[in-house]
Amino acid sequence: MKRTIAMAILSFMLGAGRLSAADAWQAPSPQQIDSVYPQMVALYMDLHRHPELSLHEEKTAAKIADQLRKLGYDVTTGVGGTGVVGVLKNGPGPVVAIRAELDALPVPERTGLPYASHVTTRNDLGIEVPVMHACGHDLHMSVGMGTAALLAQNKDHWHGTFIYIGQPAEERIQGATAMLREGLFTRFPKPDFVFAVHDSAGLPAGKVGYTPGYSASNADSVDVTIFGKGGHGSAPQVTVDPIVIAARTILAWQTIVSRETNPQDPAVVTVGTIQGGTKNNIIPDEVRLSLTVRTYKEEVRRHVLAAIERIADAEAEAAGAETKPEVKVFESVAAVYNDPVVTGRVVAALQDTLGKSNVVQEPPVMASDDFAEYRRDGVPIVMLELGAADPATFAAAEKSGRVLPGPHSPLFAPDLEPSLKTGILVETTAVLDLLSQR
Ligand code: ZN
Ligand code: ZN
Repeated sequence: MKRTIAMAILSFMLGAGRLSAADAWQAPSPQQIDSVYPQMVALYMDLHRHPELSLHEEKTAAKIADQLRKLGYDVTTGVGGTGVVGVLKNGPGPVVAIRAELDALPVPERTGLPYASHVTTRNDLGIEVPVMHACGHDLHMSVGMGTAALLAQNKDHWHGTFIYIGQPAEERIQGATAMLREGLFTRFPKPDFVFAVHDSAGLPAGKVGYTPGYSASNADSVDVTIFGKGGHGSAPQVTVDPIVIAARTILAWQTIVSRETNPQDPAVVTVGTIQGGTKNNIIPDEVRLSLTVRTYKEEVRRHVLAAIERIADAEAEAAGAETKPEVKVFESVAAVYNDPVVTGRVVAALQDTLGKSNVVQEPPVMASDDFAEYRRDGVPIVMLELGAADPATFAAAEKSGRVLPGPHSPLFAPDLEPSLKTGILVETTAVLDLLSQR
């Protein structure tokens, strides 16, 4: 009996202890998330229906700026192109920023959803292309806005400064650098932490993935122009055919990873576009190729980039081309490095909120993200993977070994309600944890 009373007192004390510690707001309740959800799903649908390509995110930026202003944020637009910065100051304390990307991709949407994009536009080469939020940046913007709304509505329960970074041109690896160059860390309060989520078809909605340390690879875009000598398709003997040189070069590049790099060192060489020629019976003067190169180690990066040029030069020479190919490396970005200590801290907070089984460690991937750029001047960054697959479809796919369409696929569609609600829960919980002084 005594023992029971003692335990009751003990549990009361522990409960009381928890209560006072929990006086600080640690995570939004389901009701709080439900209260902002209708507005966030409306924002998502609007963004999804009206995607804009990298460096052209004018309307998207205006929508984000408008919503942040209505929430009481101090908003600056036109930072590093179309970038938006929303600042909510709420007394002394840490400065925590979240990053959401504004841009969409030239992908033809084939999801068949009622809110699918039918947008087409001219790209920078003047070619008509379809546009789709195929990477889920519309989801990230809406998750960020849900977080921004909850923080604005509950200012009594936290202090510090919260910043919403609406970043352009992630898909071209330019926006983060452009915003930083235009004073993101100097004109505005410099963040103590920068946090982001990225959706994933590799996790069911309701779960979140983390990767301490390196989580995404170095990325370099490479444009190669092969010069031949054009002429009539019926008289190849008086031409140097750049189409044939391009074909050989592409196949030879495949031996860089298979024959030149250490199998223990990951590397990817992908040729994403080939452009050359205008008509069946004309041999063109040149062919343009665009590549993406992914690596982790700096020495592997340097070797692969040098090998691309060496092979292109040698194939052109073998074909008797008079001019060397032009090789341009651009859109280079470093690997994303999630600060292990801060990641551990956020993961512990999320385990409390979502349950341990919903917070899973994930292996690094060869994808890239200019989120890596925010890790400058010692600012720790953390990006988590947000589960976006329909849980039942995910379970069935796991059983059959089928790979579900993920980001950049015309068929990629987040399971909207649970992804968006979990995203808001995850991001708000992470931000509150980072705002709490420890
Ligand atoms: Zn993407
Ligand atoms: Zn993305």
